[in-house]
Amino acid sequence: MLRTHTCGELRISDINSTVKLSGWVQRSRDLGGMTFIDLRDRYGITQLVFNMETHPKQGEQARKLGREYVIQITGKVAERSNKNAKIATGDIEIIVDDLTILNKAKLPPFTIEDDTDGGEELRMKYRYLDLRRNPLRKAMELRHKMAITTRNYLDKQGFFEIETPYLIKSTPEGARDFIVPSRMNANQFYALPQSPQTFKQLLMVAGYDRYYQIVKCFRDEDLRADRQPEFTQIDCEMAFVEQEDILNTFEGLTSYLFKEVKGLDISNFPRMDYADAMKFYGSDKPDMRFDMRFVELNDLAQNKGFVVFDQAELVIGINASGMAEYTRKQLDQLTDFVKKPQIGAAGLVYVKYNTDGTLKSSVDKFYSSEELQKWAERFAAKPGDLMLILSGGTDKVRKQLNELRLEMGNRMGLRNPNTFAPLWVVDFPLLEWDEESGRYHAMHHPFTSPKKEDIELLSTDPGKVRANAYDLVINGVEIGGGSIRIHDRDLQKLMFKHLGFTDEEAQAQFGFLMDAFEFGAPPHGGVAFGFDRITSLFGGSDSIRDYIAFPKNNSGRDIMIDSPSPIAQEQLDELRLNLVKAKK
Ligand code: ASP
Repeated sequence: MLRTHTCGELRISDINSTVKLSGWVQRSRDLGGMTFIDLRDRYGITQLVFNMETHPKQGEQARKLGREYVIQITGKVAERSNKNAKIATGDIEIIVDDLTILNKAKLPPFTIEDDTDGGEELRMKYRYLDLRRNPLRKAMELRHKMAITTRNYLDKQGFFEIETPYLIKSTPEGARDFIVPSRMNANQFYALPQSPQTFKQLLMVAGYDRYYQIVKCFRDEDLRADRQPEFTQIDCEMAFVEQEDILNTFEGLTSYLFKEVKGLDISNFPRMDYADAMKFYGSDKPDMRFDMRFVELNDLAQNKGFVVFDQAELVIGINASGMAEYTRKQLDQLTDFVKKPQIGAAGLVYVKYNTDGTLKSSVDKFYSSEELQKWAERFAAKPGDLMLILSGGTDKVRKQLNELRLEMGNRMGLRNPNTFAPLWVVDFPLLEWDEESGRYHAMHHPFTSPKKEDIELLSTDPGKVRANAYDLVINGVEIGGGSIRIHDRDLQKLMFKHLGFTDEEAQAQFGFLMDAFEFGAPPHGGVAFGFDRITSLFGGSDSIRDYIAFPKNNSGRDIMIDSPSPIAQEQLDELRLNLVKAKK
């Protein structure tokens, strides 16, 4: 037996028992007559004491131990005179009788401490060492808890976890596929799933009316901070349901996770149309921890001689409540903020509603105080408030104001990571125009059902067609999305046509699904939650990487195993692949 207890387990009630512990040397302190060692494992830290007088041999050994050596000790649990309230085992220590070195360790390239001195790249290269650190250990524990809690909930709701293949053919989710050449089928390729979408729909046709899977998905996209080429989804599908049934089931899952994992009662899941989300918050994932809705001012602000507003499609602003005291400098900072190239506004107009009741704006030249008073009413502003106004093309200015709203939310302390405000955004458009290819794309994916009442618009005004599609947003983060699916061959065929597929192309790529629809496909729909995302949200971080054991870096590389990497000529030959000179 290598251990009787873990390093996080022993308490005052264990005093005088003889125990065996194994673990890593976190740190040691040599005080001459005594050497103290903090022994660490996944469960915690236990203090070991080596007494030079009674156990000179072991004491000598202990002095020579380096950081991260793996050792095993036998000893007696004793009460500590110097208790450490910060750790669970802080009341006790082990008086060591026997020490065995199980393995030596090189000096780690960074310190294995909560606040390490290692840079990100170094920590990624030695991820197994980084994973020894507390913050990551806690992240892995949280991830495990999220997964097991999800499984428990869905199991209780009658869902089956069913695996779907990874070697498939293209499933369009709007990204590029990762491709795997087939050795046995010359010049043919598998694609890795961007999601199990078509398979879960086929499971509905097969009659497994509640399916889920915690599953890897692969998307070959240019990476952003919160994206990974392979990531995990809680992927679900249900048959004989309407949108409302799905929203209720997954609100249930989300509430259950909050309760079980964080001890929080979160049961309010308001719903908002996509159109309203864009109109009032300029985003399809508004952060609802605070309101600060957009207020439109065209009728009040135009045709008064201020050309910038007169020429704008939309004049629109927010009320930063209680911020009228903002100084010139702070207002200049905000103006610089909205003028940043990533945001791209031409300027910022402000109206201060002073506490003495007077109004002061950056456009006093053009507007009387009576006129500004009307603006204030529209904003429901009170003395002490600050109104911030942008103008421009509708879509653009809404996006810009969204950034400003979030910035004000930050400055005003309204975005506490420990407050959670969920929101379902519903009625997404079915299609979105893609400038580059000059055609419509499915906003969600091509299997999403249009709203019945909008089907007619498909041939006259496709951009106006709404879908039975929904996203769950929490604190401005898109946690997941889904839709009610098309389950009728003709409608699916029509959809592909609108997406620019010829009949032959649609048949070649998705014939298997459309064929299945002819064998009794039930009405169905589903949803997928980004598992890495929701876990990091629960962990209070916006970096999903911290919640993935072995993530890739920003260039899609695993720098620990050094992948992607070249392969041997024999492998290339077997796969009949020719290397081309890489473009720079
Ligand atoms: N397959 C979709 C996705 O990965 C989710 C869904 O529609 O269920 O985003």
